[in-house]
Amino acid sequence: MSTRPRMKNPLKGDASLDESIYARIAEAILHGRLKAGTKLPEQRLAALFGVSRERIRKTLHRLAAERRLEIIPNRGCFVPKPTVEDVRTVYEAHRVFEAGIIEQLLRVLDERILAALDAHLAAERAAAERGDRAASVRLSGAFHLLLVDQLGNAELSRFLRELLSRSSLMVSVYEPAQSSLCAVDEHGAIVAALRARDLDAALRLSREHFSHIESRLNLERGTPDEPDLAAIFAEER
Ligand SMILES: [Zn+2]
Repeated sequence: MSTRPRMKNPLKGDASLDESIYARIAEAILHGRLKAGTKLPEQRLAALFGVSRERIRKTLHRLAAERRLEIIPNRGCFVPKPTVEDVRTVYEAHRVFEAGIIEQLLRVLDERILAALDAHLAAERAAAERGDRAASVRLSGAFHLLLVDQLGNAELSRFLRELLSRSSLMVSVYEPAQSSLCAVDEHGAIVAALRARDLDAALRLSREHFSHIESRLNLERGTPDEPDLAAIFAEER
């Protein structure tokens, strides 16, 4: 959970409108309302949000720079459609990366870190119980970041943030909205193994955890031919 104050733009007006359009498109992707492969025509979005095409283009480019959207020259802007191979490589990267993190973490693990992990698990459980998918998605990624952040290595933290943005997108576009992102119990089991200082168990549980998420992704989900963008963005209100 971020303690950062909500972005408030001192200039207001244009910049905060851009920020809100950006957030609404990003959320529609995150919540799986925009499916893999959906085209986002500039003109249509400009009309929907009541702004110029130039401003929409700027926002789409920002999302593309974060790899949440894909801009294909002469064809337009699309919600990415990761391939089976993309999914395999991203989850393999997760497994390899976290194995290294767990090894390092066991060297510095103390009561303070364990307490932070316990608090995080409690927040995850609470979000799952009240069926708050947005919070669940945020917290499940944050669990893995919490492990990394304990090492105090900005490069490692940055690397995981990048990787998580790729895998979260895969979950958003390929996982049925009903199921949860990371199983809280699996996170709990990893924490229990860390607490017991059982390196082998922690490594195995972490590896299995990413394999489970990967296997739940349903790459068969087709692209809706004509998504109703007006309805998708109306739901945001
Ligand atoms: Zn997880």
